[in-house]
Amino acid sequence: MASITLDDVTKRFGEGGEAVVAVDDVSLDIEDGEFIVFVGPSGSGKSTLMRIVAGLETQSEGDVFIGDTLVNQLGPRARDIAMVFQNYALYPNMTVEENMSFGLKMSTDLSDDEIERQVTDAAEMMGIGNLLDNTPGELSGGQQQRVALGRAIVRDPNVFLMDEPLSNLDAKLRTTMRTEINRLQNDLGVTTLYVTHDQTEAMTMGDRLVVLNYGELQQVGTPLECFYRPANRFVAGFIGSPSMNFFEGEVDDGTLSVDGFDYDLSERMRSNVGDRTEVTLGGRPEDFDLSDDPSGENSFEVAVDVVEPMGSISYVYVRPVDRSHDDTFVVEIDGQRPVSEGQRMYTHIPSQDVHLFDRRTGKTIHQRRLDNEEGLSLSAETQAAPSSGD
Ligand code: ADP
Ligand code: MG
Repeated sequence: MASITLDDVTKRFGEGGEAVVAVDDVSLDIEDGEFIVFVGPSGSGKSTLMRIVAGLETQSEGDVFIGDTLVNQLGPRARDIAMVFQNYALYPNMTVEENMSFGLKMSTDLSDDEIERQVTDAAEMMGIGNLLDNTPGELSGGQQQRVALGRAIVRDPNVFLMDEPLSNLDAKLRTTMRTEINRLQNDLGVTTLYVTHDQTEAMTMGDRLVVLNYGELQQVGTPLECFYRPANRFVAGFIGSPSMNFFEGEVDDGTLSVDGFDYDLSERMRSNVGDRTEVTLGGRPEDFDLSDDPSGENSFEVAVDVVEPMGSISYVYVRPVDRSHDDTFVVEIDGQRPVSEGQRMYTHIPSQDVHLFDRRTGKTIHQRRLDNEEGLSLSAETQAAPSSGD
């Protein structure tokens, strides 16, 4: 097992003005045994970064260490990693057993008996012990993915690399396999890098998330840190579903004016905003309420546009009645509450739940309050500035 260190890693494809910067100066310390998820939209550089760790791609600049070893010059085989991809990459003419033992036969001098024992163990672990004599074509997508995982496990590598391994599976199976990979990683304790564009997968699987956008590192933190203490507007919008609502505004004399309502900033907000005037307010759907009472602090009137019942909750898309355009934002309410389309109501977000961002840079300038800051063991730089009030 091993730690992984990336030092100022940059990857450019192409030359000069045509060059695409797929990974832009990324530095990262991954601890031995950690489950790290690279998450970001399509094209954000996740696969390229993983392929650089694997040795399948060479970085344009920077260093990669696995353990204490500088591996810049080492090919994939010498790095002692095992990869699992979306498309399984199983050999169609080999049985499951042959697929799983192939790597061991090629790269070790273990006896046939020993290889068979390890393959059987890994197959049992993945629940495919009864499929060892089948060929991949005879298996379902989920079973094939288990074979691909089993093949990675049997190699007993220093590092697992998984690039969107579940994206070909249907939603239900994806959820099951998510839990299985989580359990497996816990049991084996092998340092794992996992690539996904799916924020739910990232939230539920990672010890820490590495959030990427346009090849740039946006934030490295635990899932809850990225959710409650987003470093910038991008992370705030990417982590959490449905997304945080954003309202672009101007601050004048302690009041943030956005298209549709005015928001009186609290003392703590004012001090964090300083002399900035271009500020974005962010609030999560679950932090807004809907009521018939106009007297809530900073409340404003909205018209209900669409109601999406999810069962235990409903998502209600609303439009501030004073807004100059048709854009809506989303409020989460109890699923048993009757709300109808076209209805006029009032909404407000408590000041303790508000995030503020610099409109120009996108950086977070004000973090929400948390009831249990210590319980979330947030790192020092993501804690809210200690001051009274909201
Ligand atoms: P992700 O995995 O996050 O979807 P990738 O790492 O695949 O993103 O791609 C990052 C960027 O690098 C994209 O703009 C992509 O088009 C570009 N890119 C990736 N591989 C190559 C390549 N072999 N040649 C040229 N451009 C590439
Ligand atoms: Mg990719």
